[in-house]
Amino acid sequence: MATETNPLVDDELVDFLLYSVLDAEALCELPAYQQHSKETFDMFIDSVRRFARQDLLPTYKPMDENAPTFRNGRVHTHPALPALYDTMVELGVLTATRPESAGGQRIPLLVHTLASAYLMAANLGAYGYIGLTLGAAHLIEAFGSDELKRRFMSKMYDGEWTGTMALTEPHAGSSLGDITTTAKPTSEGYYLIKGSKIFISGADHGVKDNVVNLTLARIEGAPAGTKGISLFAIPRLREEDGQLVSNDVTVAGLIHKIGWKGLPSLAIEFGDEGDCRGWLVGEPHQGLRYMFQMMNEARIMVGVNAFATASAAYYESLGYALERKQGRELGARGGDMVPIVRHSDVRRMLLRQKAIVEGSLALLATVSRYGDVAEHGVSEDARERAGLLLDLLTPVAKTFPAERGFEANALAIQIHGGYGYTSEYLPEAYLRDQKLNSLHEGTSGIQSMDLLGRKVMAKGGAPLRALADEIHATIGRAREAGCDPELCTALEQAVATVGAVTMELGQRGMAGDADGMLGHSWDYLDMFSTLVIGWQWLSMAASAKTAPLSEKRRRATEIATQYWIRTEVPRIDVLANLCRTNERSYIDAQPEWF
Ligand SMILES: Cc1cc2nc3c(=O)[nH]c(=O)nc-3n(C[C@H](O)[C@H](O)[C@H](O)COP(=O)(O)OP(=O)(O)OC[C@H]3O[C@@H](n4cnc5c(N)ncnc54)[C@H](O)[C@@H]3O)c2cc1C
Repeated sequence: MATETNPLVDDELVDFLLYSVLDAEALCELPAYQQHSKETFDMFIDSVRRFARQDLLPTYKPMDENAPTFRNGRVHTHPALPALYDTMVELGVLTATRPESAGGQRIPLLVHTLASAYLMAANLGAYGYIGLTLGAAHLIEAFGSDELKRRFMSKMYDGEWTGTMALTEPHAGSSLGDITTTAKPTSEGYYLIKGSKIFISGADHGVKDNVVNLTLARIEGAPAGTKGISLFAIPRLREEDGQLVSNDVTVAGLIHKIGWKGLPSLAIEFGDEGDCRGWLVGEPHQGLRYMFQMMNEARIMVGVNAFATASAAYYESLGYALERKQGRELGARGGDMVPIVRHSDVRRMLLRQKAIVEGSLALLATVSRYGDVAEHGVSEDARERAGLLLDLLTPVAKTFPAERGFEANALAIQIHGGYGYTSEYLPEAYLRDQKLNSLHEGTSGIQSMDLLGRKVMAKGGAPLRALADEIHATIGRAREAGCDPELCTALEQAVATVGAVTMELGQRGMAGDADGMLGHSWDYLDMFSTLVIGWQWLSMAASAKTAPLSEKRRRATEIATQYWIRTEVPRIDVLANLCRTNERSYIDAQPEWF
């Protein structure tokens, strides 16, 4: 497939998820979304996907090949970026989910997730400026004063300034409780900030003149650890007498990273000259809590990045497999070479990619819909239940697409044979891009501990019970729709296994055996994700029985469901056993033995 014809994301899958599997139109009955309809959803997605394919995708390779540079204290980015950014703002991508009061259209997160997937698949780095600005402005919208909204948020939502999330410090990445950037109060209402941050994406660029860094720092005298961290808005340029002047935020260096080349990540210094002003967002010492409240959104966005990168690569490899001729079919004597898609081992790789990619999108869409109901559901019960499921599934929605997406990206290279190992073809670039998604917004290891140590154990196990109910309801629906009963039974047994293991591990935790509970958190996440993706596939298979689908999509849904439940779900027993027996090889392996 020539890159220009790469669809990036399958339109029929998006429609199927929206209107058949997840009934997006039912969301329009909620007061928050009453102004919307299938027509407004389709219009938004159509305009975004057209821009992604026609305008954004052609800029991906040039940006990958021309990384930003750092000269005379400023970062220089690809010249196509300012116009691309402005068009995305005009399309409403930046503020689509925000209420009218913030200049948005209050589109459900479900619709936004599916639309933004096209943009990310077309050019992850270019979309990154939007994602970061939205995240930063949303923090001020949620927790900032009217004055901060006027001063910073409006300019970000208007598309005039961009934003960043400035958390990481050279010595404190996963361990954010250890950050040391300081904030000294002044009598003028602002704080004087001093400290170093690293990896801050979009902190300087040529897209817009000004950038507002939503930064974690410690007010002088604050308690140690996570309880003493506050959130500040720190612009690169501040307004004085109607002019924009330097705010003593300097770029210390450009990170030479292996992917996401359209978006620079930087080491930055606040307050080298003692004159960096930051404005407190919300209450003192609540910074990490605020950040975590926004984390679901950010982590879902990383999951969508991961899906998108794997989806674009899947279509590259599908196109290649249809065109590349090599060898003959098994048992054939002589004759012409056949396209490699005729070899079942190549179809193994394509089907595995498809199961990972489309299973990921189904999960991300499901979780986004829970996000919509958690925020805007009519009853307290509906909001609470959706909130439980959203919290529980967020680490899975972030990590599964990132980890298995990386595997899918590697398969896209494998299908290209030796050509896949060259920069003439795109899969190697997508593989480089993909790797970031298991690192930022909390590494996969940290997510696994969050899932097992916190999420499944929350509220006496209520989230897990809610999930089990959802999966059982899907199994019931699948049986009624006439799906393969063996697949339904296999998933039913898997739910029981995961429930029993969770109970055992929870009891170990309550008895104070932290190693016994969390030693295999990675295997637990793998087991849990395998079940969740099985649930997503069975849900699609059940809906496919009656949805208005092409024959191709219907058959592909059936075969991918069968593939996942027959080949992946059996691994749940092996993983459950590792968690249960607490197999001790890496728990007992001592640092000095390596
Ligand atoms: C390209 C890029 C862009 C980024 N953009 C931003 C940005 O815009 N803003 C921002 O603030 N940050 C950003 N980051 C930083 C990113 O969020 C951190 O890299 C990430 O949080 C991990 O921190 P670290 O790199 O210090 O790794 P570390 O925390 O040192 O982790 C190293 C390894 O140890 C493991 N580990 C750490 N602690 C534990 C533990 N307690 N238990 C078990 N395992 C553990 C981790 O899982 C990991 O495998 C970016 C990073 C990159 C690479």
